[in-house]
Amino acid sequence: MTSRNQQLFEKSQKFIPGGVNSPVRAFRSVGGTPIFFKRGLGSKLWDEDGKEYTDYIGSWGPMILGHAHPEVIKTVQEVAVNSLSFGAPTARELDMAEMVSKLVPSMEQLRLVSSGTEATMSAIRVARGFTGRSKIVKFEGCYHGHADALLVKAGSGLLTFGTPSSAGVPSEVAAHTLTLNYNDIPGLETLFKEIGNEIACVIVEPIAGNMNLITPSKGFLEALREQCTKHGAVLIFDEVMTGFRVALGGAQALYNVKPDLTTLGKVIGGGLPVGAFGGRADIMQCLAPVGPVYQAGTLSGNPVAVAAGMKTLELIQAPGFHEKLTASAKRLVDGLSHAAKEAGILFSAQSVGGMFGLYFSEKVPTSFDEVMQSDKEAFNRFFHAMLDAGFYLAPSAFEAGFISAAHSDADIDATIAAAKKVFSEMKARK
Ligand SMILES: *Cc1c(COP(=O)(O)O)cnc(C)c1O
Repeated sequence: MTSRNQQLFEKSQKFIPGGVNSPVRAFRSVGGTPIFFKRGLGSKLWDEDGKEYTDYIGSWGPMILGHAHPEVIKTVQEVAVNSLSFGAPTARELDMAEMVSKLVPSMEQLRLVSSGTEATMSAIRVARGFTGRSKIVKFEGCYHGHADALLVKAGSGLLTFGTPSSAGVPSEVAAHTLTLNYNDIPGLETLFKEIGNEIACVIVEPIAGNMNLITPSKGFLEALREQCTKHGAVLIFDEVMTGFRVALGGAQALYNVKPDLTTLGKVIGGGLPVGAFGGRADIMQCLAPVGPVYQAGTLSGNPVAVAAGMKTLELIQAPGFHEKLTASAKRLVDGLSHAAKEAGILFSAQSVGGMFGLYFSEKVPTSFDEVMQSDKEAFNRFFHAMLDAGFYLAPSAFEAGFISAAHSDADIDATIAAAKKVFSEMKARK
């Protein structure tokens, strides 16, 4: 008998390309049938067949409080009865902007949008408008949403133009995007020395979470700050994933490096569609209606989405919230590392705040090239065995993991115990 999951997936492929509304959900990297979820509560999820899972994706980051947090749900219900949208200013948007600016002080002014993609796309436009320059710099393995200018991979050399990483992106658009290696300070310095006065902005994930988890090496973020300041380029920290998750003030608070612009998404909406971009007031004043850079959104600052986000941001300011989240993630990665070592499996892991990375490699990777060398087959075996046992990890060796405040020590210890069994089975089969 085929499961309801399987039936749904088969039918979905008829009406939705690949059966999914975002490609990573399709399990292409690990194989098998994606799980269709019906319900979530705290750290747990239930699929269409009624199977229970402990969730380590958290909707790819937003669910930092766990699923269906009673206070967030109550707020959404209360606000929804007063209309779902006005397309006009509301007091709540002001409260949200003020709160975000207080939590992330480099964001003197900000605009709310409805996704991370919109936030990065808009930040790049305002950086170009402010500087009057066209070229942008990004890093291999960083993901900044799916705007044309950002779906670009490196050319053959440092100064060669980027090439589109997706069909449908004109090469003329990609030509303005230069791609460097993450953590490559000499490469960065060389590029700026050659064409620093043509660069509008550098956009970076201050902790990379879209090529598994890669942390910035010592001095990398400082070097970005120094080169951008020296050459009049705008430094954009894409904190869509790290914002409010690695620390209350994001990666910029953790590493004490101040960007000119910051982009936010995921946690800021608490599970509803909210993004934001903001930073130096002199740059943000370039936006219409005060300045010449156009940017807009029918549902920007949506009252229900903003209410969910605000309540989430309010709750994560509880004393000790991030300390506990950090300790939970560390308990998980330490336990998994220990279990793998005991079983004799080549494995490493690390965590920052409520994000973690698991690697089937001897050492924690520091670049895209290194992460690509990890044992993908071993990951896929681990992923499927854990899924069968009721632990929902990201379906790719190249995605970070997420933990929520709802994950108890018992949840984590059960995960480690399951992994221990899987590791020894993997070893036995070798
Ligand atoms: C998820 C993500 C985005 C894109 O956000 P969407 O809301 O999916 O459009 C951009 N940048 C980073 C760093 C992300 O992790």
